[in-house]
Amino acid sequence: MVASEHPNADVRTRGFIQRSTVEEALTWIDSTLPEFARLGVEEVSLIDAAGRVLARDVTSCVNVPGFPRAMMDGFAVRAEDTQGSTPYNRLPLIVRGVSLPGNAFIGTLHAGEAVRIMTGAPMPNGADAVLPFELAQTDGERVMALGEVTPRKHVGQLGEDVGRGDVVARAGRVLRPQDLGLLSSLGFRTAPVIRRPRVRVVITGNELLPMGMAPEGFRITDANGPMLAALVARDAGAPVMSPIVPDDRDAILAAMRQEADVILVSGGSSVGQEDHVPTLLSEHGELAVHGIAMRPSSPTGMGRLDGRLVFLLPGNPVSCLCAYDFFAGRAIRAMGGRSRDWPYRQLQARLTRKLVSLVGRVDYARVCIRGSGAEPLAIGGASVLSSVTRADGFVIIPANSEGYPENAEVDVYLY
Ligand code: AMP
Ligand code: MG
Repeated sequence: MVASEHPNADVRTRGFIQRSTVEEALTWIDSTLPEFARLGVEEVSLIDAAGRVLARDVTSCVNVPGFPRAMMDGFAVRAEDTQGSTPYNRLPLIVRGVSLPGNAFIGTLHAGEAVRIMTGAPMPNGADAVLPFELAQTDGERVMALGEVTPRKHVGQLGEDVGRGDVVARAGRVLRPQDLGLLSSLGFRTAPVIRRPRVRVVITGNELLPMGMAPEGFRITDANGPMLAALVARDAGAPVMSPIVPDDRDAILAAMRQEADVILVSGGSSVGQEDHVPTLLSEHGELAVHGIAMRPSSPTGMGRLDGRLVFLLPGNPVSCLCAYDFFAGRAIRAMGGRSRDWPYRQLQARLTRKLVSLVGRVDYARVCIRGSGAEPLAIGGASVLSSVTRADGFVIIPANSEGYPENAEVDVYLY
């Protein structure tokens, strides 16, 4: 289909001619993502790498430990010299010196000898076990063994933790603090990670005042900018904010063409006289989906412009949040190498009141958790942002359902 032929390309003052299903919109995103999933690799300091996605397998160039080392404080010994020792049959060993972490004992241990050793210190040549202090009693120049140790007892062997050539972390892993500790111990300073998708947030609307200004007269203050910046950051994208853009075709197009991997346009995506964004996208790029059978967020759109993935999000703040979560967030997470699933914890709860929907439409119903119950909040009111600040989470009513009766057990996604 030629881009400009989208049936909903110009629905200004007419209303949507048809709606895509949520499923179709998700399918379009998933099938389009491979074009956009080549963000490239950046090396970041291990200090900043927690939570980043590893771009390739990391292989160790060294053995850890790099030398046999003591795993207990005590005495390095030849295990055979302790054979037969008990608290009632103490066997004497001559203490030849000491081995400390970073400061090895120089020399070789012979029969009947011991070296005082601390955890992490290199085992002396000739020693094959550590007699812990608990099994030893010092007696001048000598130490008495009070029990037996077997060969290799309390000794960390060369490469026991990590061997040279071992893959220690696989591409796609979300780096945890302990991974960074391991990488550092292998000599790495940086990790190769997938670059964060840069997400340009374009807020449109003649009526909007920027963050920090009190609403005045008929003007309202932008709610979507800070909300979208936070959502993008949550999904590990790098939000880039543009100044608020008026409902002006050239200004909107210029903002949509700024440097980015993903463009989020808030406002102007519906059927109002000043809703220019869908026609702009279909004229200059591709409007792949516009108008989705869901509530709220039905005026959502998506497509491409000059190699950027574009999401048209309704201006109503609740619709904007919902449309971001259904579509844009999924794409941003996937581009960054992360799970497409929602980053919300799930909880099962019983509805305290019925939730009504229409077959053919997906509903996003805000609920409060009261004990083991989920109490639906007013389902309408996509403009009422406090409905989502008061809610603890939301319930999705799928397209094939007319809703849920009171007492039905539902899955709640917790904000
Ligand atoms: P629109 O999607 O442009 O038709 O806007 C729908 C409704 O959301 C209108 O009442 C707008 O004033 C309001 N709105 C649009 N953008 C924002 C925004 N960034 N913050 C708060 N409200 C907005
Ligand atoms: Mg508007």
